[in-house]
Amino acid sequence: MAYEPVIGLEVHCQLATASKLFCGCATKFGAAPNHQVCPICLGMPGVLPVLNRTAVDHAVRMALAIGGSVQQVSVFSRKQYFYPDLPKGYQITQYDRPYCLGGGVTLSSGQRIRMTRIHLEEDAGKNIHAEHASLVDCNRAGTPLMEIVSEPELKSAADAAEYLRRLRAIVRCIGASDGNLEEGSFRCDANVSIRPLGANILGTRCEIKNLNSFRNVERAISYEILRQAEILDGGGTVTQQTLLFDANSGRTQPMRSKEDSHDYRYLPDPDLPALVISKDRIEGIRASLPELPDAAKARLVQACGLAEANAELIAQDRGTTKFFDLTCEAVGAAYPAPAVANWLIAEYLPVAEARHWDLAESPIPPQRVAALLQLIAAGTISGKIAKTVFGVMLDSDEAPTSIVQRLGLVQISDEGVITELVERILTHNPGPLAQYLGGKDKLFGFFIGQIMQASQGKMNPDLVNKILHARLAERRGHLD
Ligand code: ADP
Ligand code: MG
Ligand code: ZN
Repeated sequence: MAYEPVIGLEVHCQLATASKLFCGCATKFGAAPNHQVCPICLGMPGVLPVLNRTAVDHAVRMALAIGGSVQQVSVFSRKQYFYPDLPKGYQITQYDRPYCLGGGVTLSSGQRIRMTRIHLEEDAGKNIHAEHASLVDCNRAGTPLMEIVSEPELKSAADAAEYLRRLRAIVRCIGASDGNLEEGSFRCDANVSIRPLGANILGTRCEIKNLNSFRNVERAISYEILRQAEILDGGGTVTQQTLLFDANSGRTQPMRSKEDSHDYRYLPDPDLPALVISKDRIEGIRASLPELPDAAKARLVQACGLAEANAELIAQDRGTTKFFDLTCEAVGAAYPAPAVANWLIAEYLPVAEARHWDLAESPIPPQRVAALLQLIAAGTISGKIAKTVFGVMLDSDEAPTSIVQRLGLVQISDEGVITELVERILTHNPGPLAQYLGGKDKLFGFFIGQIMQASQGKMNPDLVNKILHARLAERRGHLD
């Protein structure tokens, strides 16, 4: 039987605030356990929560960035459950009146995945299960989150991963979150169901909790689709439940049966007035939005002439987009934008990633990259030599021109000098020359290699090509 998977994602994204959602405790990752807590986030009686303004600003920014509709009035509720990492006995979250409805994210296939809602809520603490005891760390309790809920519209594990990448690019672009998966600032619950191809009602869903890497999202969903298909093929029915993904075995496992929302006894939090967001505030935030990844990509393709794939790569990160723009600006018309993109993608970005550079403060700023590219454009060095120069630049502040002079890397473009070397290489390789003249055309590359090696890569490759061609053609001519 052929099935169609249906996937809806809930993303919990930590907002980039210095303090928690309802108290002044710091949110910094990695502090000693229970060192960022106070009576409010520990749930002591008699304390009162006060809403963090910056958290709301970030959340509104996100709503606008995905084209959602910001609700001028929204309500905080108490979601009640018992767990050791939840000292209050309830989590403050938005329930039936979230601050944002609608919006969406467009995939590269063109499919728009619509959002159901985004709401604001506080995170719980963490249980740590040690060898002889279970411990509770409340540093995370009260950390501001936005929960972004999609409609059940994704059709494959790969689409789900792409949706998450795009969402993460947006939150990072607007500065609403660092989107750090390893530190848990961007986590995903995946709801998965399958239905017979062409059916129009949804199948029973299972929810896989707390996936913390793009790869595991894909693996978990793929596994779950197969698991459900096997159940249906065997004549069984899927039970709605909450699952955990085990990254080692690659399987999902039952965690608990699914609660219904009435089990939580939601009630409006009597300590918090309704959240009222004025039109002026919304419009102010809208006006301050940066260029978003989709818009950046379109501009790079249309105005700068980049290939789709390169534009996508550069536009997905705001730091990279800025770096690219500044490099183009500094290098000027001599080195066209698509070539700048190629160079950055092939040479620069891999190094920046390996060295964990923040592109805004990288030791090799756009101006230095531009100075190097200008040397290529002017014919002073070849692209190959540029790699050597770049290698030296990585560990020193020396200007590219000075490196080229000091190491004697200036490209040789003197036709006389090149001709002389070409002749010498041909004379010294009588065997390959005879074979070439006998019709083995691919030995052309062999001669190029010899010449480049003998000149330590310093000869202008275009000229070497032209002259070698001419000299070989002349010899072939003599044979005819
Ligand atoms: P809950 O808190 O119970 O998980 P939510 O409404 O917060 O409920 O989230 C439901 C999520 O599950 C949404 O992302 C939605 O798209 C998805 N979903 C709902 N029904 C299905 C289904 N039959 N198959 C796949 N995903 C579903
Ligand atoms: Mg859920
Ligand atoms: Zn606190």
